[in-house]
Amino acid sequence: MNDLPDKTVRNIVIIGGGTAGWMTAAALACRLSGTGSSITLVESTEIGTVGVGEATLPQIRGFNQMLGIDEAEMMAKTSATIKLGIEFRDWGKLGDSYIHPFGNYGEAIGPAEFHHCWVRTHASGNAQSFEEYCLSIMAARAGKFALPPDNPSSVLDAYTHAFQFDASLYAAFLSSHAKDNGAVHVEGKVVEVATDSETGFIVSVTLETGEEISGDLFVDCSGFRGILIEQELETGYDDWSEYLPCNRAYAVPCEIIDPVRPFTRATARHAGWQWRIPLQHRIGNGHVYCDRYISDQDAVDQLMSTLEGKPLADPKQLFFKTGKRRNLWNKNCVAIGLSGGFLEPLESTSIDLIQSGIVNLLNLLPEKECAAADANEYNRLMDREYERVRDFLMLHYVATQREDGELWRDMRNMDWPDSLKHKIDAFKHRAIVPDYTHGLFAAASWLSVFIGQNIIPEHYDPRADLMADEALAEELGRIEKHIAQSAGQMTSHDVFIAEYGASFEGAAT
Ligand SMILES: Cc1cc2nc3c(=O)[nH]c(=O)nc-3n(C[C@H](O)[C@H](O)[C@H](O)COP(=O)(O)OP(=O)(O)OC[C@H]3O[C@@H](n4cnc5c(N)ncnc54)[C@H](O)[C@@H]3O)c2cc1C
Repeated sequence: MNDLPDKTVRNIVIIGGGTAGWMTAAALACRLSGTGSSITLVESTEIGTVGVGEATLPQIRGFNQMLGIDEAEMMAKTSATIKLGIEFRDWGKLGDSYIHPFGNYGEAIGPAEFHHCWVRTHASGNAQSFEEYCLSIMAARAGKFALPPDNPSSVLDAYTHAFQFDASLYAAFLSSHAKDNGAVHVEGKVVEVATDSETGFIVSVTLETGEEISGDLFVDCSGFRGILIEQELETGYDDWSEYLPCNRAYAVPCEIIDPVRPFTRATARHAGWQWRIPLQHRIGNGHVYCDRYISDQDAVDQLMSTLEGKPLADPKQLFFKTGKRRNLWNKNCVAIGLSGGFLEPLESTSIDLIQSGIVNLLNLLPEKECAAADANEYNRLMDREYERVRDFLMLHYVATQREDGELWRDMRNMDWPDSLKHKIDAFKHRAIVPDYTHGLFAAASWLSVFIGQNIIPEHYDPRADLMADEALAEELGRIEKHIAQSAGQMTSHDVFIAEYGASFEGAAT
């Protein structure tokens, strides 16, 4: 590859060696390899990483592919399991359970979309569970998995998957990729930041050892501290805790007692919710809560009393404020990861937002002057992502019939953002799911939460009435049977993990 033109940023400095830092370093080093650019990552092992962040979204497969990563190797080296979706327990009402799947429901029956036909049968009192029409869900519930076919013979067989992994092992795995592609790793704590007196651009950082590292572009991956984007550049923060009030968590791993099923679980509690993320060697657990509605002691007691297996460490407390940096790109600094914002982990969106930040940065890789136009476009794209994620997360809290906690009552009665109100109204009225062309959470995701949390539309697409009752019942029966058969033919998830992990070149034989 030829060198990039002289005016392009050449020296890129990343501060932070958590998931965000190493994902950024690995992607930039891979994509800019041979262009004359230098990538330097500085991290302080004394400060350490946040140490959570184990559940991902299917988009991560695109990231791994971009880097040429062998997924069997990645899974073996990060103790990863397969994730076909997230099970939500007790969100609509106590006792409810539904899965938000990484796949679609049914297939169009005649001119109407599938879910309109299902709503029609629901209105007539003849509906099967909506879940029966989704292969990802049926496979997840049965503890089964097979790699999705590249060319499925039917839309009913189309699905995708994500991973649950040990985040520190994933960062370590990516660090060797980054270094293989020329990224330079510097251990040390940044204690000083120098800026240009005229432009305010960051010129260099100084480590505790006195070493100075200069650069054209700085990527702040320093976690909640935001040492460049906030402590130095004072960019400001859009505080969304009014919309997403949970602000603390306790996290603790425990032993596995049952075979691992390929999904994450999020169980609603009276002042928040609890996660359960199964890896190959342990289960990650955490209780996310709002301190206005429960004491820390009660929150940790609730977590520890509901663990399935023996705890493997002391519970760790984490503090956060939901929201995002006012500008994720400010001057010659781009904030990626927790330094840029955090929207709570209910839908495993943080690692995906890291990925979006990296891809947008690569697409908009600036000239040394870091023009405001580039930054504005980056910020527009990222703001849109954050707002969509915020609305989707809020939907879980507001579409509830729970009466057993102040959190649920407050969320239901609050003033929702117009963008969310519009989506809920459109669905409630006539089963319409306004879709996105780009970005996270397409129609099937919204459908899963709407229906899973008992929002049943008053009307549906009239074209769903074109078919006679018996013909519709026959079609629905055919789809249900096809999906049950396809799920039944898959391998048990445990067997898949053992065989796939052993399949990469270099696996111990
Ligand atoms: C409770 C909770 C649960 C979560 N669950 C999920 C999940 O399931 N899925 C998901 O996608 N995400 C999840 N996340 C988010 C996820 O943990 C983060 O997005 C991810 O770990 C990235 O963190 P980071 O790299 O931005 O920050 P960190 O891991 O905090 O890393 C910051 C880095 O900066 C370095 N650093 C800081 N200051 C300095 C300095 N002065 N000098 C040098 N280095 C410095 C640190 O040493 C560290 O290497 C969760 C977050 C929380 C709080």
